[in-house]
Amino acid sequence: MIDPGDDIEDVLAIVRQHGLTVKQIVITHAHIDHVGGAMKLKRATGAPILLNQNDYALLKMLDIQATWIGMPSPGKVDVDNSIGNGDSVTIGNLTADVLHTPGHTEGSICLYFAPQKKLIAGDTLFAGSIGRTDLPGGSYEKIMASLHGPVLALPDETIVVPGHGPLTTIGEERASNPFLVG
Ligand SMILES: [Zn+2]
Repeated sequence: MIDPGDDIEDVLAIVRQHGLTVKQIVITHAHIDHVGGAMKLKRATGAPILLNQNDYALLKMLDIQATWIGMPSPGKVDVDNSIGNGDSVTIGNLTADVLHTPGHTEGSICLYFAPQKKLIAGDTLFAGSIGRTDLPGGSYEKIMASLHGPVLALPDETIVVPGHGPLTTIGEERASNPFLVG
């Protein structure tokens, strides 16, 4: 499961309906709308939580993040392992390479499924936009370095699954994303 922000009852209903087993909970970055439901899902499934260590400080700010968006704090989240560059995440016959892509947050990661040419982009890259960098831990210079580094190094036909909004491709964003062209 990637980025269980909330609505864990709904998530678990889908898991049961399809007879699935949650093996790992991978967090692309420690913003509350991506990690807020992780502990509840971990308690329900026993699956470990994986998050890049550079976002541990942000994870300690979940109470403050909750006040930003006017929701109750989800409480403390216990991470089991840090994941970063050089790591991979394997589920069944699927393997994703972990790309550390700081900028939206210090510990932001993307997951690249090379055989499927699919990128789970967290809040680093959106269709026609990029992640905001004005929150604590954000850096415009770093997100641009991440985008022009490991992200745009991927093949044009890579399907991008952003943390919010519609799907896109690396080629589409390379050609027309206003933050990346010119
Ligand atoms: Zn975010």
